[in-house]
Amino acid sequence: MKFATLASCFERLEATSSRNDMIAILARLLAGTSPDEIGIVCYFVLGEIGPGYSGVTPGIGDRTAAAAIALAAGVDLASVETAARKLGDYGDVAASLAWSAPEGPAEPLTVTDVHRGFMEIAQASGPGSADRKMRILAAMLAAATPTERRYLVRLATGKMRLGVGDMTLLDALAEAFLGSKAERPPLEHAYNISSDIGLVARTLLEEGLSGVLAIPVTLHRPIRPMLAQRVSRISEIPERIGSPVIAVEEKYDGERIQAHKDGDDVTLFSRRLIDVTHQYPDIVRHVRRCVTADTAILDGEAVAFDHEIGTYHPFQTLMRRRRKHRVREVASEIPATYRVFDLLYVNGEPYLHRSYPERRAGLEAILSPDEQISPADRILTGDLDGIRSFYLSCIERGLEGIVCKSCADDSFYRAGAREWQWIKWKSDYGTELVDTLDLVVVGANAGRGKRAGTYGSVLCAAYNHEEDIFQTVCSMGTGFSNADLADLPRRFADVRVDRQPARVMVTPQAAPDFWFAPARVVEVLGLEITESPVHTCNWDPERRRGLALRFPRFVRWRDEKSPEAATTTAEVVAMFRRRREGG
Ligand code: AMP
Repeated sequence: MKFATLASCFERLEATSSRNDMIAILARLLAGTSPDEIGIVCYFVLGEIGPGYSGVTPGIGDRTAAAAIALAAGVDLASVETAARKLGDYGDVAASLAWSAPEGPAEPLTVTDVHRGFMEIAQASGPGSADRKMRILAAMLAAATPTERRYLVRLATGKMRLGVGDMTLLDALAEAFLGSKAERPPLEHAYNISSDIGLVARTLLEEGLSGVLAIPVTLHRPIRPMLAQRVSRISEIPERIGSPVIAVEEKYDGERIQAHKDGDDVTLFSRRLIDVTHQYPDIVRHVRRCVTADTAILDGEAVAFDHEIGTYHPFQTLMRRRRKHRVREVASEIPATYRVFDLLYVNGEPYLHRSYPERRAGLEAILSPDEQISPADRILTGDLDGIRSFYLSCIERGLEGIVCKSCADDSFYRAGAREWQWIKWKSDYGTELVDTLDLVVVGANAGRGKRAGTYGSVLCAAYNHEEDIFQTVCSMGTGFSNADLADLPRRFADVRVDRQPARVMVTPQAAPDFWFAPARVVEVLGLEITESPVHTCNWDPERRRGLALRFPRFVRWRDEKSPEAATTTAEVVAMFRRRREGG
């Protein structure tokens, strides 16, 4: 496929404001793609050059991109920078700059050429690699049309922002090859256990649905984590879970880590499925030392535990370990403990379709625990009193709450799903008046008065999983420290877009001054959920009403969460209903 075909499709995707149109455009594109290229096309659509977990990125910054544009166009760097200041985007600069170098050679770029170029860029390392990366990009730009250049630069700098989410792309694959987007579930399942949409697409095209169903759990390829539901009252937990025996586990406030052990080779993935092995050399050692099975996949939480005082450090302390340099030094200052709560694979066998009690027994059988690595502490109970008293003892020990888990025969590990088999209960739900929500920031309003020069408020949205869109819940301007406030424009600079993103639903009254691609998650504390004509969460088109969070307050940024892991509109509806029913 010519890269120009793909680039013009990207242009159409950018121009549409309807998710259904997006699916139709993508389905047509995918239906005409060859098996060799379909994986690449999927990665490019998502703004990547390989599966997210592989960590393979071109790693080109704005300065290198500017140098490549200057070289390819035969102009000086200063004029590229001037144009960038005016246009705000190096992709637009590359597309609009008058090219004094000879126009591209006779051979047009193909999708495969571009991918090969980006892989070379990604693999360049060592002395002189910045210059090599720049030259490879410049060579591709020199062979490209203006529209192609725009997307080459955006892919190179990681700023595609077409607004296509994973589920939208899966819908398009289902429509292209299975006749309708309603056929998405088996594709979604394969994606949940492989985290590689390119692999799912290629397998679908080459082997059909039966091939997709046979995609196995594989070491060093992350499984999308199972998530916990929430309730408004602790008393609802037994009924919601519905199994006579409930496991009540400690809830740790650290970083979710999935560990893959393959002999001595250990890979760690974050909740966003990023390879974080280098950040936790201590956890790698603990897994190697204490997991007796030859191969295994564990799910758990990395927490900073202060062995001297005997309490857990807050999440923020652990986050100081998110760094590229001085990793070992900081690891010894803030050692991490791995609290394991699930077993997903052992000695060649996937465990996803085993019940929670079987997985837990398997975990205990292959882990010789010590202070650094151990299964999550828990109790088994059948009633509310048991849940309550364990919860109180957790709070006393400085934990943030509990996660209750079904012990029923069908309590399988549901990769990527947020269902009632797991229910979390946190200390801040304790007072029945407040809720915390993890919301996606989709826009901001300009600040006035004391806030001139920064944002006055940010527009926050919940994730509607069924429709794969973001619907607003509140506009939030309180709870920020002065430093947080001043930092807002910088924090959102790289996700600012010049029009409403296609997957964001906003009423005219709530339309913000600035739009952001849905990317950053924020934890928000609010007083209650009410019906509202202003916000679109669970929008009822007839009554022209949605749901809104009243008195929202900033709690903290949740950069480790992807936008699709935010609080769902269904959860907001559940909170609203329960409150109204006298919760
Ligand atoms: P939240 O981040 O508030 O949505 O809570 C869900 C998160 O709690 C999970 O993604 C895990 O990272 C974390 N967690 C801590 N302890 C447990 C546990 N025992 N079982 C499951 N998840 C846990």
